[in-house]
Amino acid sequence: MIATTATEEHAQRPPPPYRGRFAPSPSGPLHFGSLVAAVGSYLDARAHGGQWMLRIEDVDQPRTVAGAADDILRTLEGFGFAWDGEVLVQSRRLDLYHAALVRLQLEGEVYPCACSRTEIAACSPPRSVDGGLVYPGSCRNGLAAGRAARAWRLRVADATITFGDRVQGDVQQNLERAVGDFILLRADGQYAYQLAVVTDDAAQGINAVVRGVDLLDSTPRQIWLQQRLALTTPTYAHLPVVTNAAGEKLSKQTRAAAVDLSGGSAVLSAALKFLGHAVPPEISAGPLRDFWPWAIAAWSIERVPALRGVCPY
Ligand code: GLU
Repeated sequence: MIATTATEEHAQRPPPPYRGRFAPSPSGPLHFGSLVAAVGSYLDARAHGGQWMLRIEDVDQPRTVAGAADDILRTLEGFGFAWDGEVLVQSRRLDLYHAALVRLQLEGEVYPCACSRTEIAACSPPRSVDGGLVYPGSCRNGLAAGRAARAWRLRVADATITFGDRVQGDVQQNLERAVGDFILLRADGQYAYQLAVVTDDAAQGINAVVRGVDLLDSTPRQIWLQQRLALTTPTYAHLPVVTNAAGEKLSKQTRAAAVDLSGGSAVLSAALKFLGHAVPPEISAGPLRDFWPWAIAAWSIERVPALRGVCPY
């Protein structure tokens, strides 16, 4: 299980030169919840004099909606976000994920797994930290005779991963108890998000990750994977996520509305207010060219509430 304390005592500081990123999944238009992550990651990067990269996370092809990536980029541009370098698109980088998987295969860190979801459920394993099931390790010591590989899993150990989150405080997770050996190549042939995000954060030289707290439980898996691939671990800051009145995270599944570009500084100010920063009326009612310099100067990650979900309504 994950334990967090709202202290920053052990939180690492992003090392200079700071390089952050925003990595939306194009499963729908940019909604207020993703705008909050964009604003938080952008301001933290710029307040550190750092770079801010963009990455379209369309590795999960079945969840990708045609036209959504362009729509997200247009919306970010319309709000006045300025990113550095090329926009990286995961669906064009499958060779890199393949190379990382091959390396792990050669080192014996991953193994083929024949289990279906129904078979795993039949073992009645405990619930995993992300609402699935802890993998019981059935294929860990080799496939039983007559069984065919469906997916590839990364071995984990009975070890506790700990890190100091810049917003949520100290985090600990025992991977074996929280998730078990986890999938890197899915039965449908798609590379898992965990493999793609770790490969790309390293390839883009990202040393400061600022994103929604819904990914906090994934972070120990990413750190474990970074260690297996001899990659540097960035600093992490997990922002509270926007929920609806029922406490559900805003997402395409909960029918979150697209942010309205015509709202300009007022919409950005609402995102910043959600992150614990009061915005003066002349800024929230003013032009975008006044909003950004004010917000970069005002940004302080210490003001962001160390909460998981907040309903702004
Ligand atoms: N693509 C993920 C999302 O849109 C974010 C992944 C990340 O920031 O690591 O929720």
